[in-house]
Amino acid sequence: MLRIDFELTDELKREYIELLNSTKFGNGKNAKSVQDKYEEYELFSKEYTFEDIVTIEAHKINDLIEDVELRGIDNALLKEIFKYDGKFQPLIASFFEKHLNPRTCCYCNIDFINVYDEENNKNKFTLDHFIDKGRYPYLALSIFNLIPCCFVCNSKKIKGSIPFYEDVELKDTNPYLNSFNFDEKVKFKLHLNDNCKDLNIKSKDDIDIPLKERYSNEYDKYIEVFKLNERYQAHKDIVFEMLQNAELYPESRLKELQELTGIPYQEIKKDIFNLIEDNADLSKEPFSKLRKDMADELGFKKVGLA
Ligand SMILES: [Zn+2]
Repeated sequence: MLRIDFELTDELKREYIELLNSTKFGNGKNAKSVQDKYEEYELFSKEYTFEDIVTIEAHKINDLIEDVELRGIDNALLKEIFKYDGKFQPLIASFFEKHLNPRTCCYCNIDFINVYDEENNKNKFTLDHFIDKGRYPYLALSIFNLIPCCFVCNSKKIKGSIPFYEDVELKDTNPYLNSFNFDEKVKFKLHLNDNCKDLNIKSKDDIDIPLKERYSNEYDKYIEVFKLNERYQAHKDIVFEMLQNAELYPESRLKELQELTGIPYQEIKKDIFNLIEDNADLSKEPFSKLRKDMADELGFKKVGLA
C-alpha cells in the first residue's frame, strides 16, 4: 500500500554486515559467522560478495534469483549457510528501529508498528520475508527482502507463504521498489447506498469504501492477498465521521468560525477533518491513505487547502 523510502548508505551497509557477523555459529575456534560460511563454500561468492547478497537492492533481486537458480544448488546447503534463526531476528529488528523507525504497517496502513516499550526494546512489528526464505534461503538476510510489517499482514491467513516471486502479479510489489506506486494508482472510493441523497448518511452501513485502481489492475492480486477491502470494512466509521463533519461544517459555517476566531478557515477545516497535507508522509499515521483519498472524494482539496 505504501512505499518504504529507505536509503541504505555505505555506512549503514557496513553496520548491517557487522551486525550479521556478530552472530557466530559453532564453538570456540571453529565458530563462524554467516559471512565466513558463505565465503568458505564458494557457491557463488566469486560472482556475488557477501555484501552484494545481503544489501542487494530491491530491483535487482529478481535477476539474482534467476542467476542463482540456474546453478541448481542444494537448497538444504543454502539453508545451512543463510540460516535465519532466532539470533538474527532481534538484531535485524533493532537495526530497522534505529535507522528506518517504521511507524505503520506498509502493507495495510492499519496498525501502528512503532516501538512501544523503549526500555525493554519491544516493538509491534514483525519482519516479513517478501520473497520466501524457505524457497530462496540466500535472501533470508537481504535487507530489501525484509519488510517490517504488522503481525496480521505477516500471518498465515494473509501473506503467509504465498509465492510472491512466482506470481507475476505480485512479483513487483516489493514496497522498497521505486516503481511501487500503489498509492498513486489505487484509491479508496466512496460509494453510498442509493437511498443516501446529498450526503445525508444515517449510518456507516450506508457507506462502502472499495479500493479501485485507475486505468489498469496491476494491484488487484495485492489487494486480495492482504484482504484490504475486507479489513477496511471494519474502519468505515472513520469515513462516516468525516461525512458527518462535512454536514455539520459546510463552507459557510467554517467562514463564520473564521470570523469568530480569526483563524483562517482552511486551518479550521484541516483540524476538524483531520486532513493530511499534500506531501505528507502517509506512513507516519494509521489510516492516512484512507483519509487522504476520502478528502479527495469529498472534494476538500478544491477549496484551496494548500
Ligand atoms: Zn499490516
